[in-house]
Amino acid sequence: MPRIKATYRFSVTVPSTRVAVANGDLISRRSTGDRATYVWDAKEPMASYLATVTIGKFRLTDAKIGKYRTIVAVDPKLAGKAANLAERHAPVLDYFASLFGPYPFSSTGAIVDHAPKVDYALETQTRPIYAEVPGEGLLAHELAHQWFGDSVTPSRWQDIWLNEGFATYAEWLWQDKIGERGLQTSFDMAYATPAKDAFWRTPPADPGGPAALFHDPVYYRGAMTLHALRGKVGDMAFFQILSRWTAEHKYGNADTRAFIALSERVSGHDLSGLFTDWLFKPGKPAFWS
Ligand SMILES: [Zn+2]
Repeated sequence: MPRIKATYRFSVTVPSTRVAVANGDLISRRSTGDRATYVWDAKEPMASYLATVTIGKFRLTDAKIGKYRTIVAVDPKLAGKAANLAERHAPVLDYFASLFGPYPFSSTGAIVDHAPKVDYALETQTRPIYAEVPGEGLLAHELAHQWFGDSVTPSRWQDIWLNEGFATYAEWLWQDKIGERGLQTSFDMAYATPAKDAFWRTPPADPGGPAALFHDPVYYRGAMTLHALRGKVGDMAFFQILSRWTAEHKYGNADTRAFIALSERVSGHDLSGLFTDWLFKPGKPAFWS
């Protein structure tokens, strides 16, 4: 259930050749004979789908980098490729904090497994899990989830675009910031999908059932919805909406209706047409509607 949140403390005993990684802050690691006990403290509220205990052969680093305690666990096979992974977190988090409001958790980091057959990552709270060393887009996506999904969690799974649309838009923002790809180009590429393509059949805020929860429209049409909103209300109101969203619902749950109401309150616009076209109606929306 995404609505039930709790703080967690993990105490995990493993053979000393293994490392136990979980959410939050590493409190202690004690060795007794050939065993080691790791204690992790996730002191901010967390939905259960974001909790992890990951046990394996990992190289664990724990350092304050910029403002952030950054705890990274990497499969030794990827140690070379992941050499600067910990240092890559602070610039992304600083940029997102400037747009979305303060980073909500007491630590950050990553769990990087070597799992070439797994083609997704997961935004486990404070410490996303990756199946390889993430590129800039994927790193930004999972870190954006810390605000959108982890701190502010959808009340119901039908509202999953509040996670995936926002994280995808944040990914576009970061790629734009570092000069990897312009924001408008990201929008245009997604919007160029032909009107008759099945992509446009699923409205992101009404995916119609569990099977479509993680399909492309929830991600890309969700992100396009935010770009359309930004075009309509202007940069100032848009980023005010996002930072008020993360502040008002910090560590809580919220739904699409609340996001629409906040957008209308902050911008002073009637946005029912825009959100109906982009979020609820099947078919390709006319931009600026
Ligand atoms: Zn995501």
